[in-house]
Amino acid sequence: MTVLLLAVALFACRGQAAEVVLQGRWAAAAVPAVPAVWHDFDPARLQAFPRHPDGALVELLPAGGHWPAPPWVLVVRHPPLGTIALLDDAEPQAGALNDSDASALHAHGRIAFRIAHPPAAGQPLRLRIEPYPTMSGPMAFALTSERAFQREDTRWLAFVSACFGVMLAMALMGLAFAAILRDATLVLYAGYMLGYLVVQAIQSGYAVRPLGIETIAASPLLWGRVAVGLAVGCAMAFLARFADLRRYAPRLGRALMAFGAAVAALSLLALLPAEAPRAAVRAAINPALIVGTLLTLAASLVGAWRGSRYARFFLAGWTPLLVLTAIDSAQTSGALPDVLWINDACIAAAAFEAAVLSLGLAHRALDLRRDLDLARAQADADAFTGVLNRRAWTERLRQRVREAARAEQPLCVLFLDLDRFKSLNDNFGHRAGDDALLAFVAVLRDPSQPRAEVGRYGGEEFTVALPGCDLEQAQRYAGRARGRLRGLGIAVDAGGRPLTVSIGIAELAPGEDTASLIARADAAMYAAKNAGRDCVMLAAAPPESAAAATR
Ligand code: GH3
Ligand code: MG
Ligand code: MG
Repeated sequence: MTVLLLAVALFACRGQAAEVVLQGRWAAAAVPAVPAVWHDFDPARLQAFPRHPDGALVELLPAGGHWPAPPWVLVVRHPPLGTIALLDDAEPQAGALNDSDASALHAHGRIAFRIAHPPAAGQPLRLRIEPYPTMSGPMAFALTSERAFQREDTRWLAFVSACFGVMLAMALMGLAFAAILRDATLVLYAGYMLGYLVVQAIQSGYAVRPLGIETIAASPLLWGRVAVGLAVGCAMAFLARFADLRRYAPRLGRALMAFGAAVAALSLLALLPAEAPRAAVRAAINPALIVGTLLTLAASLVGAWRGSRYARFFLAGWTPLLVLTAIDSAQTSGALPDVLWINDACIAAAAFEAAVLSLGLAHRALDLRRDLDLARAQADADAFTGVLNRRAWTERLRQRVREAARAEQPLCVLFLDLDRFKSLNDNFGHRAGDDALLAFVAVLRDPSQPRAEVGRYGGEEFTVALPGCDLEQAQRYAGRARGRLRGLGIAVDAGGRPLTVSIGIAELAPGEDTASLIARADAAMYAAKNAGRDCVMLAAAPPESAAAATR
């Protein structure tokens, strides 16, 4: 997945050849007066223009002095939100990432103007960067052929669609699993992915072109704030649950949950129609996001340090995005002006994170399943001997009865009660009694009857289900058990009387139910006791009515 995304990213960033080398200068706009101070800059590198109430003027000239033969395309790469106007007396054009009705070229993730009539030699192309109520991000300019521009545009679209497709698919999968497994962690994961997807779609202009979402086009900043608040809020709560911070870093976990909820609630305030809450959101959201990011980083580092495997998953998925976002912010203050691919890399990193986290969620599901299996096995086992307890054995027998009836296979049940066990306890202590119970369980686990299912019915009473065995085989099993128990030479009294067992055997009759089968084996065991102990008795046939009742 990662390799695929990297390959697509490289593919998208490749081949921005056939460009005319430009030189440029900019000035704070002072319309209509002529600006006083001009600053030279390299249009091929990222350049941020300070926020000015009237925006900034930019002039571009070919380095060689002569404009190439038209038509050409002027591309504004890495454009921030806001309008950029080409001040051409004959053909004025204006474009913006969030303005789908622009007279500029229909570009994706960038603003582009077709230059049909370039200025005269020595005359510059003039642009106005309209003022916009947000931090002005750095941008770069290129003059390229229409064909090269189309190629660049299509590649970008394919690349970003692939990344967003991954994020959307992961989020939808999270929601589907959340609905089935009733797991809030998966809902938070989906909220995080969808929120971040919207943020990226707004920042890159994808929400407007190609998606054409007019609501977002009308107020990208508002929706950006809502989406980023929800994404960060969900991410914080997701991390707290996913990395099991309640166990590894309880205080940080609680702080994450509380702060995450506060950030999400704050961002929703922006949707209120009144101006006061919106202004409050505008003022508070960025500091809140910074604190939230630091808290998330601290919690994931502490969780990972204290052994949370899922905090490590989170870090592995999130770190590339965090680093790239930090570089992206640093570029606003002039860092790395030659690196134009950070914005696109952020999108790839978000898709990468979605994939890594969903891998983490799959591992977590496996762990939960193992815990559940273990808990079930523990709930089914008799704590002392390890064989099935009465409830679990009875359930198992019920299942075997159904299977035997369906397959018309024989099924026998043995009821076994140790003889004079109380005497053993009284003479040699409970510890010796316990040891005898464990030895007897080992006897019942007969290697020549691997399908035997042993249960502890109570105290020194055991039951065995023998699926597929008829009375004759069951008798042989019982005989072996008696013989091996005697062979252990466990005494029940000072006189050396050996520990023996009384056994009753019943074979499932057609139409008989589980309760009747157990009752007949039990009655046969009592018959063995009455016959003097240390023997095997076969159960009487079920009363006609008992067998008929369930038929
Ligand atoms: P009978 O031959 O008639 O079956 O006599 P019995 O002594 O085996 O039967 P009784 O039901 O009178 O006594 C069963 C004894 O088993 C009583 C109880 O203390 C003992 N017992 C039950 N569970 C345990 C256990 O987990 N460990 C030990 N050491 N003794 C147990
Ligand atoms: Mg007994
Ligand atoms: Mg008993």
